Amino acid sequence: MTGSTVLRARGLTRQYGRERGLVRAVDEVDLDVPAGQTLAVMGPSGCGKSTLLHLLGGLQRPTDGQVWLAGRRIDTMSERVLARLRRDSVGFIFQSFHLMDELTAVENVELAALLAGQSPGRARKRAMYLLDRVGLADRAGHLPAALSGGQRQRVAIARALSNEPLVILADEPTGNLDSAATLDVLRLFEELRATGQTLVVVTHDARIAAVADRVIAMRDGAFADDNRFAATVYDGRR
Ligand code: ADP
Ligand code: MG
Repeated sequence: MTGSTVLRARGLTRQYGRERGLVRAVDEVDLDVPAGQTLAVMGPSGCGKSTLLHLLGGLQRPTDGQVWLAGRRIDTMSERVLARLRRDSVGFIFQSFHLMDELTAVENVELAALLAGQSPGRARKRAMYLLDRVGLADRAGHLPAALSGGQRQRVAIARALSNEPLVILADEPTGNLDSAATLDVLRLFEELRATGQTLVVVTHDARIAAVADRVIAMRDGAFADDNRFAATVYDGRR
């Protein structure tokens, strides 16, 4: 852990126009995520968690405020440069997996590396290594339709790791999973945390929050509660 700041936000705001006025989905948020931190963001539906994650990862632009990723200001960055920074630095995990239905597990994992110009041999080798890491080496040739929800999410996690991202941003990664599959994902996140991977996870699951270093509760676009060293508070193991 280098002590550097992977994500920084100042006055981060995202407003949406609505028929009856404006809604501030994210409302003047200040945030620093140091390298190696596992941050859980919790809060009721509609409080702005997904919007916050999209702003931090450069998938959406703020209407006000500043955001830095890997020390670089991204809210004013050109789309072309931002797309490249995203590709090189961020791994996204979504509730609904977002796998390509026509591609096998290993093809899904290696796709980004191939698009980035890596040789097919190297891309395949790394994809197989990552599938093994998430416990799915024996499912490499399966299409997503032939996998369970938990297996699909583990493929998506392997894919998110393929660019060795500086930060992983996960949006309710266990939201579509049963309890056993949730535990598999939880174990993977614990392993990632142990390797020093920086991780921001939006979750409703107290078990995921319990392994985080810090838990932020959001209400109406703002931070209602910010509980650092949450794992110590919640289970005393750390
Ligand atoms: P969460 O992920 O916590 O459920 P969201 O970030 O999805 O919250 O949404 C926060 C608020 O912004 C909600 O009031 C939602 O209706 C609104 N919102 C989100 N996306 C849009 C959009 N594209 N257009 C208009 N309003 C939106
Ligand atoms: Mg959401």
